[in-house]
Amino acid sequence: MRVGTVKEIKNHEYRVGLTPESARELVSHGHEVWVETGAGLGIGASDDDYSGAGAKIVATAAQVFAECEMVVKVKEPQAGERAMLREGQILYTYLHLAPDPEQTADLVKSGVTAIAYETVTGPGGTLPLLKPMSQVAGRMSIQAGATALEKAHGGRGVLLGGVPGVLPARVMVIGGGVVGFNAAQMAVGLGADVTILDRSPEVLERLGIHFESRAKTRFANSSNIRQMLCEAELVIGAVLVPGAAAPKLITREMLSCMKPGAVLVDVAIDQGGCFETSRPTTHEDPTFTVDGIVHYCVANMPGAVARTSTYALNNVTLPHALEIANNGWQAALKADPHLANGLNVHAGKITYEAVARELGYDY
Ligand code: NAD
Repeated sequence: MRVGTVKEIKNHEYRVGLTPESARELVSHGHEVWVETGAGLGIGASDDDYSGAGAKIVATAAQVFAECEMVVKVKEPQAGERAMLREGQILYTYLHLAPDPEQTADLVKSGVTAIAYETVTGPGGTLPLLKPMSQVAGRMSIQAGATALEKAHGGRGVLLGGVPGVLPARVMVIGGGVVGFNAAQMAVGLGADVTILDRSPEVLERLGIHFESRAKTRFANSSNIRQMLCEAELVIGAVLVPGAAAPKLITREMLSCMKPGAVLVDVAIDQGGCFETSRPTTHEDPTFTVDGIVHYCVANMPGAVARTSTYALNNVTLPHALEIANNGWQAALKADPHLANGLNVHAGKITYEAVARELGYDY
């Protein structure tokens, strides 16, 4: 199969669909790989890196869209890219169609076969192609919080791990899923005093077994949240209620008990945020202060570490890309029901029930 990748054109997107290593893997399985010139520059991969891996460099995205049977990307196709999609072509990328009627209509019109990373499932109802980005965001949340705690960034002037003779900072992680677990790991590694709150007894038990005495766990009811909030230097918001907006667990009124210069990092901001005072920010201007409390609410945290994020993403997307390229999409989806759950659009029809229902298409 001829597989292609293009330079991402969404604002501030530096990741790329295929790394040179992924290109080499596809080539070694007998496939042709076309790469738009400069596609890998955002992760420090040059055209020479790709051609050294056996890929062909082409001058424009239009050539990739016109000639490749499968296009592998990171972000949903932008309007100009959608105009180049064609019937029978496979598009393999993040799509997030439910809140995006315009994109959905264009994909339906194009006749493309679109497989969305975010709906490919794994055992036990997991979403393995979303997981690496939650891992990245969870780990980054502690770095971001540590920086925001510095005096020059408006914070309290506290070092997370303390030093001999001075107590470490108290870190409160609300939500102990993928983001929360990774945040706690980083905070524990830095020597902070870490407590993870969750509503799920199973999650609390798993965390307790993993961290033993290195982090505390606590049930996430409103009394416990309020009490811990008043003592914390850094709070990480990492809750998710699938398919719903994040619950507002910390209200503006509750900020009044917090230490001046304490920091809230709202990782759940992409689902509306779990603090009442949160609003989305960007990597250029990541923080703002409300009632003396510093807020960090960047909605696309993994974008800041495009190289790590691209490699983490390719680790989970490449095996499926290979299955599709080796066997054709029909056979690949038939053999793997988890991959089949990724099919969102085919031949002018929505093939994913939740998207069809949300946007009023026949299913
Ligand atoms: P997850 O499903 O693995 O974990 C969510 C956890 O929240 C679960 O353990 C659940 O029990 C817990 N929870 C739900 N409601 C709760 C409540 N009221 N109180 C306490 N705990 C509660 O999800 P995840 O992958 O860790 O993602 C967390 C959030 O981070 C999501 O909103 C996700 O979209 C977001 N995210 C943001 C970025 C970013 O760049 N900002 C990147 C990746 C993920």
